[in-house]
Amino acid sequence: MSELNTNAFWMPFTPNRTFKAAPRIVERAEGIYLYDKSGRKIIDATAGLWCSNAGHCRSEIADAISEQARKLDYSSIFNFGHELSFEYAERLVQYTPDGLNRVFFGNSGSEAVESALKIALQYQRARGKGTRTMFIGREKGYHGVNFGGISVGGIAPNYQSFGQPVKANHLRHTLDIERNAFTRGLPEHGLELAEDLERLVTFHGADQIAAVIVEPFSGAGGVVLPPKGYLKRIREICDQHDLLLIFDEVISGWGRTGSPFASQEWDVTPDMMTSAKGITNATVPLGAVFVNDKIYNTVMDAAAEGMVEFFHGYTYSAHPVACAAGMATLDIYDREGLLTRASGDIGTHWENALHSLADLDNVIDVRNYGLVGAIELRAPEGLKGRFGGKASALAWDAGVMARGIGDALCMSPPLIVEAHEIDTIVNTLREVISGLA
Ligand code: PLP
Repeated sequence: MSELNTNAFWMPFTPNRTFKAAPRIVERAEGIYLYDKSGRKIIDATAGLWCSNAGHCRSEIADAISEQARKLDYSSIFNFGHELSFEYAERLVQYTPDGLNRVFFGNSGSEAVESALKIALQYQRARGKGTRTMFIGREKGYHGVNFGGISVGGIAPNYQSFGQPVKANHLRHTLDIERNAFTRGLPEHGLELAEDLERLVTFHGADQIAAVIVEPFSGAGGVVLPPKGYLKRIREICDQHDLLLIFDEVISGWGRTGSPFASQEWDVTPDMMTSAKGITNATVPLGAVFVNDKIYNTVMDAAAEGMVEFFHGYTYSAHPVACAAGMATLDIYDREGLLTRASGDIGTHWENALHSLADLDNVIDVRNYGLVGAIELRAPEGLKGRFGGKASALAWDAGVMARGIGDALCMSPPLIVEAHEIDTIVNTLREVISGLA
């Protein structure tokens, strides 16, 4: 077997030199399992990067991709169209919260966020409120890596090297281990943190703020769930001050919480919602922004007939192959009931299994909802903020892919996971965590 040359590829969000010294290469995948070159089987307890919701290498999706690439691989999406994009859009909005009836396509979560921020600015201008140009995000929020996304995002290393090019301020995050440790489901404490929004509106002035953007639960920030009533209160304050509310559902969408979208699960409807990842089961890159009629109509009506209403779009918006993959993904979600599966017995099994680790000395919190969860570890001095990475590396060696974020191990298994597989994940992690020092 020839040595793999790892020189040319500059890997994203990876310590390149560490990785290249001992590459962890995945050779193939099937269902919830990954296989390395030696054939070793690893459970993918993170569904890739929170995205392979229906499990890996689903042949129905592969067939749809192949067929579409042979029929219409690409055609201009500016000033021309292809039927599948319209059919797919009509189908997608059957799944979204009430009123979010329009969809704008990009290629990733980052592009969905960028598009949503620009739609917010366009909307404010269109209705004569052009002074509303700033955004409110939240600490620990992850909204991708483009300039708008890092500005509204709240993960310091992601923007510290690049400044904050889009005007933004941030709500405090809602992670409160002291008061909420080992909560099952939504935390009791922290509703008052929503009042941060009122404070920021008073500080900046509502006439400066275009929109508020939050993830219903923070994923890449370490699985931080919203305190009970928090999202409703954010919605109320937005309404009171005429601010748009954007939910970034790139992770929380497509069945992760037990409903198609977290906004439905927690009964709070945003004005816009971003999506990516599970939308195509991560097989072909695709991002989407779902927009309510009020925003769409305002932007349309403000432009003269015959003029482009929104100067924005991507060569690959509504790419035919991505649409085909998305359609096939929806077929699987529907047929297998995956978008609500996490609200049933499997979600309860997941919760009980994760919380069974609470007896371990070095576990200081377990958080869960639907089929997502985090195990917060007590990090030794010197490894604080990095202990999750160490645990994740050991878990990989032991046969489980779990994501290290700060001092936590975070997981979001494919929605097809079975109870016995959850038991294997948790039993493996018990060994790994017990042996950590
Ligand atoms: N928004 C959220 C909530 C995310 O979790 C992510 C990625 O993890 C993104 C946006 C960015 O998505 P992408 O990596 O596809 O650009």
